Amino acid sequence: VAVWSGEPAVVAGSCWNVELLADPKANNKKLQDKVAIITGGASGIGEATVHLFVDHSAGAIVIADIQDEKGEELAASIGNRCACTYVHCDVTKEQDVESLVQSTIQLHGRLDIMFCNAGILSQSMQTILEFDLSSYEKLFAVNVGGVAASIKHAGQAMVKANSRGSIICTASRAAGLASDRNTDYVMSKSSVVALMRCASTQLAPHGIRVNCVSPGPVETPALCETLGMGAADTESMFSRMFRLKNDGVLKVKHVADAVVFLASEESQFITGHNLLVDGLFQG
Ligand code: NAD
Repeated sequence: VAVWSGEPAVVAGSCWNVELLADPKANNKKLQDKVAIITGGASGIGEATVHLFVDHSAGAIVIADIQDEKGEELAASIGNRCACTYVHCDVTKEQDVESLVQSTIQLHGRLDIMFCNAGILSQSMQTILEFDLSSYEKLFAVNVGGVAASIKHAGQAMVKANSRGSIICTASRAAGLASDRNTDYVMSKSSVVALMRCASTQLAPHGIRVNCVSPGPVETPALCETLGMGAADTESMFSRMFRLKNDGVLKVKHVADAVVFLASEESQFITGHNLLVDGLFQG
């Protein structure tokens, strides 16, 4: 499509109304009027996704997290650009997740998008010889149980409303890989991909799509805290490991772009897919 110059463009002998084709705002309305829940929305990838959903004209966004102050501040910062609210929701408690979905439907009338993103990283090295089962159980409760509860209650609401919803889960590039550490985390993210595949098969007859986004290492509060490093050092540590040399390193915005794609009509016939956003990371 030609860049809008204010004049009709002649393409292959015919006169096109470029204004219709290249409306600079059209690209920013991929989620117009959609109602979305974002778990783990107060920070990192979730926070970036909140901002991008607002940019894409989402009608309502519910940020669900356990960091109340950050979540409230983020919701307030959106102002009148979108009906954005914060709800305290611990995804390890099924009752919290059920109430989250119910209150969203009470407030906004429906649920179109569920982004199951809340997750935690390994609390220690978790090599198999020093595997800590209680850390593993805690991590699985968030990363796997929390995603299962989120898909379950979003799916039930979407089936009941006969709506063609989109559910997206944050897995990881680590899913399915052999790793010399973080065994519980790798197990959990492999489970998220398996869960997504089962859910996509079971919800497909209802017209509901379920996909994963799998980021490579990206600078967020969780990653910096785990590494004990600042943002710049974290990015520089991983920068050489992306095979794709494309003007910088992986950023949360790149992940959020993939989530918008999977949430929008642009991916209308894509389900059961695990979309890697990792620049061919080789770590
Ligand atoms: P983050 O810590 O910045 O954000 C995660 C959010 O989840 C936080 O706001 C946290 O409060 C919330 N959360 C944690 N436990 C919760 C619970 N029980 N209930 C509700 N919310 C809870 O971290 P992030 O890096 O943005 O992580 C987001 C997702 O991305 C996670 O699933 C993580 O595993 C995944 N991921 C991260 C990376 C990375 O390099 N940062 C790479 C691949 C995948």
